Amino acid sequence: MIKISSNKIIDKIINSSRATIEEIVYLLEADNSQELFEAADRVRHDICGDAIHIRGIIEFSNHCRCSCLYCGINNRNKKLVRYRLTTDEIVSIAKEAYDVGYKSIVLQSGEDMHYDADIVSSIIKSIKSFGDVGVTLSVGERDYEEYKQWKKDGADRFLLKHETADENTYNYLHPHSSFKRRLECLHQLNELGYQTGSGFMIGLPDQTLETLAKDILLLQELDVAMAGIGLFIAHDETELKGYPSGSSLLTLKCLAITRILLKRPHLPTTTSLEVKDFNNRHNAFSTGANVIMKKLEPYKYRKLYDIYPNPTIKEKTILEERKEVEDYINKIGRYVSKTPGHAIVI
Ligand code: SAH
Repeated sequence: MIKISSNKIIDKIINSSRATIEEIVYLLEADNSQELFEAADRVRHDICGDAIHIRGIIEFSNHCRCSCLYCGINNRNKKLVRYRLTTDEIVSIAKEAYDVGYKSIVLQSGEDMHYDADIVSSIIKSIKSFGDVGVTLSVGERDYEEYKQWKKDGADRFLLKHETADENTYNYLHPHSSFKRRLECLHQLNELGYQTGSGFMIGLPDQTLETLAKDILLLQELDVAMAGIGLFIAHDETELKGYPSGSSLLTLKCLAITRILLKRPHLPTTTSLEVKDFNNRHNAFSTGANVIMKKLEPYKYRKLYDIYPNPTIKEKTILEERKEVEDYINKIGRYVSKTPGHAIVI
């Protein structure tokens, strides 16, 4: 085989916004990713600018009807203490965050049917009434009519990761649902006009570099406005207990390739990346990321939103945490976005 240089492939992908599975695999396999990372940083600068969007996430319920094999809040985990925040609690946390500068609130939970369409609607409407604030939902697979109602009531975005583009692996990891159903939901969300986000995990069982290439190409096919690309971390109360965690470096490569190929999506430095190695947060910001998510709910709930093992951290107020991340952003030579950071259209 003729040796091709990473540089040529990178330039081709940037200029044509097209990539083959083989080209992506080549970049994922490369020992030295310096050129890829620098290219991703340039594209990020040209398309998104130097702003970093801070999204506040409220993990409002850890009840879940699903049995995802990797997830600590799966419904078979009987050891987990379950919690639900009330509408008033959610809205008052969002207000506190809005008052200290958050312009973007993500509402995430397990698939908890306790929050019916009208409860979710009333939360969306209350938060939207604060002013210029974006609302993102991440509540899993629901009926088309519910998605439709929430969009009408003001929700701007919806995050529903495809988790893996390998249909067999997807179906094995999600015994309660199917890959086809996941894609159906994603298409519905797009059709309804949500700024739709998807994403995937690095390090799932049987994953190959080809799978990761397909993951990135699926993000492109879905024309996502945002993508969460995070490494898998094994949780003791799941079927995947003891399974090795994903690689941070491979995660950063996936993020960088997504940036040079798709260009416009908002790409967060994902929490699981930070958990594994705090320093990688900086790396993600220099390899294509332009978003960071900060948890907002009280600490007693954060511990129970136990998707993957989280280290215990010192308790701070929403204001203190906001200041800390703002200082960090300024320190790395970027600036804090003052807008809700809606989808970038190119
Ligand atoms: N119920 C919602 C929210 C899911 S939790 C939904 O279905 O969309 C948010 C994300 O956490 C998931 O999409 C998944 O990518 C990630 N996640 C779950 N378990 C994980 C683990 N063990 N390691 C890394 N990420 C995990």
